[in-house]
Amino acid sequence: MYGAFGKRLKKTDSIDELFKNERATVSLGYIGLYEVCTSFFGKSWEDNNQAHDFAEEIVKKMHDKCAQWAKESGYHYSLYSTPAESLTDTFCRDDLEKFGAIPDITEKEYYTNSFHYDVRKHPTPFEKLSFEEVFPKYASGGFIHYCEYPNLRQNPKALEAVWDWAYDHVGYLGTNTSIDQCFECGFKGEFKATARGFVCPQCGNHDPQTCDVVKRTCGYLGNPQQRPMIHGRHVEIASRKKNMNAEMIQHAAKYERAKQSDSQRMVERGPQS
Ligand SMILES: [Zn+2]
Repeated sequence: MYGAFGKRLKKTDSIDELFKNERATVSLGYIGLYEVCTSFFGKSWEDNNQAHDFAEEIVKKMHDKCAQWAKESGYHYSLYSTPAESLTDTFCRDDLEKFGAIPDITEKEYYTNSFHYDVRKHPTPFEKLSFEEVFPKYASGGFIHYCEYPNLRQNPKALEAVWDWAYDHVGYLGTNTSIDQCFECGFKGEFKATARGFVCPQCGNHDPQTCDVVKRTCGYLGNPQQRPMIHGRHVEIASRKKNMNAEMIQHAAKYERAKQSDSQRMVERGPQS
């Protein structure tokens, strides 16, 4: 009525006026692409081109359905690669009840977010993003890629190498690195995941008043000690493997330094030389 949506309505007008003609989106969300393809191609399908094409076909089909609905209804539908904070648990639990414990699908007690690479494996950041980068063009209603890193405070160049590469490949990239802190013993790094939550690996502290634990709960960062997560999400986070090991960190940092000194030389010499 006050024009916030660009049009003033009378009390008795239909609010529908404000949302049709593609002025707002209705989202179709999905999770568990990994699990779908696992049931057709087995648990390690990520390197199988046929399986990857199949996964892409599924996402494209959902995208096309959204386009068809938009055409038919006048509302704008978008496909949302939902990070599913609690659905990861709910959907898996429902299927567990219906289909029983299926290895690598319902048995692990969570479903994988959207189009993400199986969190239990440890591809390099480049392999992970190359695998995922094909999906967002169909699922533009929202998405995130992220990579898991060990503590990289000593070697930020390794992170820069990933970011520089990712800049030309993906639209939105999260960086998950250990920034947990214990105010009891002064520990800084990564808290240990246990069945009852996260604890300081040095002194066992898990009191939310005296520690700070930060995890990428879904798309956003959350503090699981302050606001406990649903069971499936906790299991999923605890299952995440790092996407970088010590050898790769050295390699990426060296590459990044070489690249930067190359571009520095270009600047010094000027474009003519
Ligand atoms: Zn501690």
